[in-house]
Amino acid sequence: MSTKDFIEKDYYKVLGVPKDATEAEIKKAYRKLAREFHPDANKGNTKAEERFKEISEANDVLGDPKKRKEYDEARALFGNGGFRPGPGGAGGSFNFDLGDLFGGGAQGQGQGAGGFGGGLGDVFGGLFNRGSSGTTRVQPRRGQDIDTEVTLSFTEAIEGATVPLRMSSQAPCKACSGTGDANGNPRVCPTCVGTGQVARGSGGGFSLTDPCPDCKGRGLIAENPCEICKGSGRAKSSRTMQVRIPAGVSDGQRIRLRGKGAPGERGGPAGDLYVTVHVATHPVFGRKGDNLTVTVPVTFSEAALGGEVRVPTLGGPAVTLKLPPGTPNGRTMRARGKGAVRKDGTRGDLLVTVEVSVPTELSGKARDALEAYREATVGEDPRAELFQAAKGA
Ligand SMILES: [Zn+2]
Ligand SMILES: [Zn+2]
Repeated sequence: MSTKDFIEKDYYKVLGVPKDATEAEIKKAYRKLAREFHPDANKGNTKAEERFKEISEANDVLGDPKKRKEYDEARALFGNGGFRPGPGGAGGSFNFDLGDLFGGGAQGQGQGAGGFGGGLGDVFGGLFNRGSSGTTRVQPRRGQDIDTEVTLSFTEAIEGATVPLRMSSQAPCKACSGTGDANGNPRVCPTCVGTGQVARGSGGGFSLTDPCPDCKGRGLIAENPCEICKGSGRAKSSRTMQVRIPAGVSDGQRIRLRGKGAPGERGGPAGDLYVTVHVATHPVFGRKGDNLTVTVPVTFSEAALGGEVRVPTLGGPAVTLKLPPGTPNGRTMRARGKGAVRKDGTRGDLLVTVEVSVPTELSGKARDALEAYREATVGEDPRAELFQAAKGA
């Protein structure tokens, strides 16, 4: 069944039902006529055979609510069959031939069509290649991109997290299925023939377009504007989405989630969602790219004599680091694979910085030991080189 059939054939007339017939009425009329003109009951009668085919075709369209809606819309577009196609255009309001309009019109073959051969191709393309939601679509429009922010804990940023995001955006109005019309059946705007744009005039080989003033760029006109959305077809909708934030994000990073933005209009794709991530600080761990950092206090004797030091890791068991004898204060050592998760799933390192801690209180025994240490090192002056260098330059 072609668009041409839709416009040329009055299926309601074929079945003898009114345009607002219910599904049951259509079914009943079809059954009655099908029995009457069935080939088995009219052997050799070609007229009855033709009629039976017509009846079946009409039922195929009107008996299917989705097809019926498309059919109604196609006919509404051309004034309920007032369109009389033909090479001469006799009696029709449109003066060009259907081959151009429905065949190669969009490729520019419909030269005789004046200004809108291509425009009409668009109308039909949109009208009959619609998405699944079944609302009237003229020209698909991509949904808006949405910006939002989220604050993650330090660990969530390292490991990745699924967080609920509450967002409000413009979505198709539920009351009118986004059509803007109270009956869910808007008219295609005659000014812009559904494109939502009008030419502003052309010059220098290019043309400019403006949003159509009559339909405000929607391509559709609501005869009975929906009360909820005042005919705009759009409504503010809040939704909470579970969003997966990948592992390894850092503070201030902006991630793009494709297709998670505002829903598209008339079958258009959804926009994207941009999430700016804030990461809370951690009391123990810091971060340098893929690496985590931690500062570990050691005693003077551990640093001087060497030893094994236990170091905490983020979300895992502690690791033991071997401190070589004579480790200076502030030296950084590396615990491999204990850092942040990288894009490929591997982990960076944990950078462990040694900080020699000075006891603020000493027990008697410790004091005695340190006094003895002072005795033993009395000839050593750690500042001798400092003064030497200060004089030199
Ligand atoms: Zn318009
Ligand atoms: Zn509405």
